[in-house]
Amino acid sequence: MSLIVEKYGGTSVGSPERIQVVAKNVAESVAKGDRVVVVVSAMSGETNRLLSLANEVNSKPSNRELDVLVSTGEQVTIALLAMALHSLGVGARSYTGPQVKILTDNIHGKARIVHIDSDKMMNDLNNDQVVVVAGFQGVDEGGSITTLGRGGSDTTAVALAAALKADECRIYTDVDGVYTADPRVVSEARRLGRITFEEMLELSGAGAKILQLRSVEFAGKYNVPLRVLSSFEGGPGTLITYEESSMEQPLISGITANMDEAKITVRGVPDKPGIAYSIIGAVSDAHINVDMIVQNVGSDGLTDFTFTVSGADLEKSVELLTPVVDKLDAQTVIGDTNLAKISVVGIGMRSHAGVATTMFQALADKSINIQMISTSEIKISVTVDKEYAELAVRTLHKAFGLEHLTNDLL
Ligand code: ADP
Ligand code: ASP
Ligand code: MG
Repeated sequence: MSLIVEKYGGTSVGSPERIQVVAKNVAESVAKGDRVVVVVSAMSGETNRLLSLANEVNSKPSNRELDVLVSTGEQVTIALLAMALHSLGVGARSYTGPQVKILTDNIHGKARIVHIDSDKMMNDLNNDQVVVVAGFQGVDEGGSITTLGRGGSDTTAVALAAALKADECRIYTDVDGVYTADPRVVSEARRLGRITFEEMLELSGAGAKILQLRSVEFAGKYNVPLRVLSSFEGGPGTLITYEESSMEQPLISGITANMDEAKITVRGVPDKPGIAYSIIGAVSDAHINVDMIVQNVGSDGLTDFTFTVSGADLEKSVELLTPVVDKLDAQTVIGDTNLAKISVVGIGMRSHAGVATTMFQALADKSINIQMISTSEIKISVTVDKEYAELAVRTLHKAFGLEHLTNDLL
């Protein structure tokens, strides 16, 4: 008898009919003899609807109250799914994140899970109940509701699977696995039968929203067997693997575009020790993640300092940097959202040179200008003008021959 955590995303629970389909899928796992914990997202569009409601009453709503508001989306789906399971004769009990209880830190809007109480869930499972848990939310030590960031239900699922030592965590979504690129952008994209944990980490970090980055981090930390599957059709999906295969690894496994990155440039900074610390420190002290960083070569003792943050953090970052610009005697701080970060990811890069050359040449052939470049051992990222994002992804997909990739060797 296996213990399985199944997670269904927004589109998968987007209507009463879809919720019934999900209930049937869960009932099938139960009929096989599995013990099942289900994590659900809000119905598709609901989180966005709630966020825009907030903006109608306050253009700068408090993060604490936003969490109280947006966590309600998932509360609707857990109850509906439990009811749908009941109508199939399957015992089920639903819980919000705080009820479980999923304890988090108090960084509203991007809280991190610090502890999960598995007793209540285990008790229900032992009484033949399906446990339905609201994704994306938890509670801090003070009792305030917190949320885990957009796409956070993936993280709830993987964290529950880790806490319960589940045999598998299945992420059911609206595509049938992880592809070489977003199949909505590249029609020739191929489903990967398996992908290494490290590649998935880089793809998620680079903005492929199929799995929230934190969920992949959790999976790696606790070795959670993780699979991405479709809730609309059958199929083996994509398995995230932890061992280096002895088979030859593809040079490139995936290409992704992150449209949600913003660039901040501090102009005319006196070039002296400590500027990187003053600028980046001011932003990261406010729990804002900094991604690519470029410090240009100075002239006349002045330099420009450029970095990227998530689009949602742009306004706050510029606000935080305004006093820093004064203190450093720099000229100005400028925010820019007209960019996309394009990343190519592949474990084969470790042993092959020339990936960057192929990438830059392919972009040059299409006259796509590269603004910033950053690399890791298995990833190369560049930023380009937003309007060229999709063209860049398609161009690179072709340049690396990914339409021919097959690794369905499970
Ligand atoms: P859910 O609501 O189930 O959490 P998401 O919208 O968060 O689903 O993630 C699934 C979407 O991720 C897909 O519909 C697809 O457009 C997008 N996506 C981006 N990159 C990839 C990729 N490499 N492989 C598969 N899907 C991808
Ligand atoms: N409902 C949340 C969101 O839309 C969490 C999730 O779906 O994973 O971001
Ligand atoms: Mg998602």
